[in-house]
Amino acid sequence: MNPGVAVEVADVRRAFGSNVVLAGFDLNARPGEFVAVVGRSGSGKSTLLRLLAGLDRPDGGRVHIDGAPLRGVCPVARVVFQDGRLLPWFRVGPNVALGLSGDARGRANEMLARVGLADRASDWPAVLSGGQRQRVALARALAGEPRLLLLDEPLGSLDALTRIEMQRLIEDLWLAGRFTTVLITHDVDEAVTLADRVVLIAAGRVAGEWPVEIPRPRRRDHPDFGRLARTI
Ligand code: ADP
Ligand code: MG
Repeated sequence: MNPGVAVEVADVRRAFGSNVVLAGFDLNARPGEFVAVVGRSGSGKSTLLRLLAGLDRPDGGRVHIDGAPLRGVCPVARVVFQDGRLLPWFRVGPNVALGLSGDARGRANEMLARVGLADRASDWPAVLSGGQRQRVALARALAGEPRLLLLDEPLGSLDALTRIEMQRLIEDLWLAGRFTTVLITHDVDEAVTLADRVVLIAAGRVAGEWPVEIPRPRRRDHPDFGRLARTI
């Protein structure tokens, strides 16, 4: 088992030319915590996630992982993007095994089974549904045994029913793995369904923060679910 890392983002600034996207953003996640960052389209959510993954550098402020400044690509993080980003010229199995060493390859099949696609390893990504492709993307991320899972609107292009099914899967995987998770979404219902804490980003800063105390799992079935979702 790989314990989740602590994440500390403090006073982070990032601008593209005169477009100030993050203007002193703060985010802390305890090891194993599930944090959701919600905000409108264009509010800087993906920019924040790229900083956490080490795919981009802030202009100011700090990003610390387990107490140490992040330099280069974060080795313990894996990202799932909205479009899955599977490589179309590899079948499903090799897509999941990508970047794994020889003896870790077995994990690819194990993870495909975990997301319910054990029998699709030799299919091409193109023949899968959108939901199945996102399952493969999740399997690929988890096969890397991340201690930090970064989800950038992973369910944004799915229909409502598939989205709920996938939310259940994500919760089950997180409950089993306890990797620290940062979920970026513009869907408040999704944030309340999955996260321990919901952070609202607006104008490049934290505009609000709500702990989600509705018991797990399957929060959607709880009477307080809708009330909290409407508050946020
Ligand atoms: P969100 O994910 O919340 O929709 P983004 O983080 O993708 O928002 O984008 C926030 C803002 O930053 C947008 O105005 C976008 O155009 C700008 N932006 C993001 N990445 C770049 C980049 N590489 N170069 C220039 N502008 C960028
Ligand atoms: Mg985005």
